[in-house]
Amino acid sequence: MSAQRRSTVDLAEEHLRRSGVRTTPARRLVLEKLSRARGPHTADEINIILRSAVPLSSLYRTLSVLSSNGVLERFHDGAGVARYELAEWLTGHHHHITCSRCGSTRDIDFSQETETTIRRFADQAGASAGFRVTGHRLDLEGLCSQCR
Ligand SMILES: [Zn+2]
Ligand SMILES: [Zn+2]
Repeated sequence: MSAQRRSTVDLAEEHLRRSGVRTTPARRLVLEKLSRARGPHTADEINIILRSAVPLSSLYRTLSVLSSNGVLERFHDGAGVARYELAEWLTGHHHHITCSRCGSTRDIDFSQETETTIRRFADQAGASAGFRVTGHRLDLEGLCSQCR
């Protein structure tokens, strides 16, 4: 498991190097921590995970650099807050479920069978719009166990 985690971070750093982006200690730390924290996290949550090891202004810049260079994905949850996680090409395809009241978000996996059905549907819907579909995102909303 830890060898696999190390290789995920190595892959991400290799990608950055090839894009001409320097690996700084802060960037490496963020990649390492996020590779161990499943699910997308807000900057505040990442700050807590890092135990404030990276000053907040530098953390925001780090998250922005890593996102714009394709190793992190950024999206806005149901509460409109930006959340970050390692890009799917590093971690594998999955979906998210967000609590529409508190915004807490976790990863969920669909069965292989469900993915096949979604892909077939997406291909058809995309084709009718004149697109060849290359991927999909499907986020679920609900009420978490705390808010229900
Ligand atoms: Zn995720
Ligand atoms: Zn899917």
